[in-house]
Amino acid sequence: MKALVKKHPEPGLTLEEMPIPKVGTNDVLIKIQKTAICGTDLHIYQWDKWAQKKINTPIIIGHEFMGIVENIGDGVTHYTVGDIVSGEGHITCGYCRNCRAGMRHLCHKTIGIGIDRGGAFAEYLSLPESNVWPVHKDINIDIASCFDPLGNAVHCALSYSMVAEDVLITGAGPIGCMATAICKILGARNVVVTDNNSFRLNLAKKMGADKTINITKEKIEDSFKDLRISNGFDIGLEMSGNPSALNDMIRTMYHGGKIALLGILPNDTLVKWNEIIFKGLKIKGIYGREMFDSWYKMNQLIRGGLDISPIITHKFKADDFQTAFETAESTECGKVILEWN
Ligand code: NAD
Ligand code: ZN
Repeated sequence: MKALVKKHPEPGLTLEEMPIPKVGTNDVLIKIQKTAICGTDLHIYQWDKWAQKKINTPIIIGHEFMGIVENIGDGVTHYTVGDIVSGEGHITCGYCRNCRAGMRHLCHKTIGIGIDRGGAFAEYLSLPESNVWPVHKDINIDIASCFDPLGNAVHCALSYSMVAEDVLITGAGPIGCMATAICKILGARNVVVTDNNSFRLNLAKKMGADKTINITKEKIEDSFKDLRISNGFDIGLEMSGNPSALNDMIRTMYHGGKIALLGILPNDTLVKWNEIIFKGLKIKGIYGREMFDSWYKMNQLIRGGLDISPIITHKFKADDFQTAFETAESTECGKVILEWN
């Protein structure tokens, strides 16, 4: 099969001929139709410090996908050939305290497809049945290929009650933009989105942001009067991974405010701890999606009218992966999709 591979420990990717993965007793073999490029894939493509430490070559990369069931292991009970599916890329142990308590997203032994084992940027992917997610026939298959990042946005946005709250989202990347639309549908009063990239702020506007702020030109607080925000934000979703965005957030939160941290901040990030303490802020780290409540909720949110389609800005054939990765790298994009059929 054709697969996008990090062959050697160096920048770049190559399209290679690879063996079709084995289908174990409880595995589902998926014929991949569409995949979406994530920041993690870019790190691996660029071969940055994180990738050098984390990735063992050769490996098929990618973890955002949808496809059609091609074959099933003897023990598979819930899927048949021809089903349209996506899937959770975090494979959990099933036996640790959190897995057994039904909180698989908190498993401390999680293995990631396209990172720790073969990924989805290929013509076929073999995945344990318990990680496969059925795609409802009402759902557009481009959107289904973005379930993984959409699930991250859903996990963050559903962490706190949104009704009538003023929400700050720092970072108008694909996940920040998707979270914008989710917060609005959940009843947030104001959703304010910051970035330094005007292409992405326009996307956030399309996704329903009440106000977008280019932090290189405007101060967040200057919007409070127009938006009738008295004392600051009730909820903050940090989706940039930039320390200065986190500090903007802490500064503009109202007392008792609640923050979800999705963006992966550098370990040496400095914050004004006294503001967190004296304002009594609550901070929650978010990793991946709740298995599988985030999946259920995003499914039903979309079926109920959540529209994230503006986030898909580019589609390329898998053979044109080089252009696709350059487009994703340019940041003048939302989600970039690779087509395998
Ligand atoms: P992205 O990198 O495409 O988007 C981040 C956005 O933040 C960019 O548009 C960038 O211009 C903007 N930004 C940079 N500095 C800023 C600042 N000071 N203020 C406001 N915005 C700023 O990423 P994405 O795919 O949308 O993902 C969002 C974040 O979540 C990334 O940091 C990513 O690594 C992280 N992530 C975490 C998880 C998890 O499980 N915790 C999963 C996926 C992604
Ligand atoms: Zn576990």
